[in-house]
Amino acid sequence: MTEPRQKSIGITPREKDELTKAKKLYEQRTGEKTDWGRFLGLISALGLAALGIYKLTKASKANLIVECPECGMRFPIAHTGDLGSITHITCPECSEEVVVNLSD
Ligand SMILES: [Zn+2]
Repeated sequence: MTEPRQKSIGITPREKDELTKAKKLYEQRTGEKTDWGRFLGLISALGLAALGIYKLTKASKANLIVECPECGMRFPIAHTGDLGSITHITCPECSEEVVVNLSD
C-alpha cells in the first residue's frame, strides 16, 4: 500500500509573515491557543462564510444548540475537548455547512 504523499503549498516569506501575524492576533483576541491546522481550517471556514458559501450562525457556549439556518432543525454541537469561539459543523438533517460563532 502506498501512502498518499502530503503536498505542501508554496507561500512566500511575506505571506507566511502575514499569516503568522493573523494567527497571533486571533490568539490574542480569543485567548485561545491554536495550531496551524486548526487556525487555517478556521480562517478558511470563516472566509467561505464571508463569501456566502457557508451559512453563518450563532450559539452560546452555555447552551450548545444550533439552529440550522437552512432547514431550521435544532441540534446540539458535538465536540471533543476545547471548543474555540468559532466552529464548523455540518447539519445532520440537510448537510448544510454551517460556521458557528460561539459566545460565552
Ligand atoms: Zn439543516
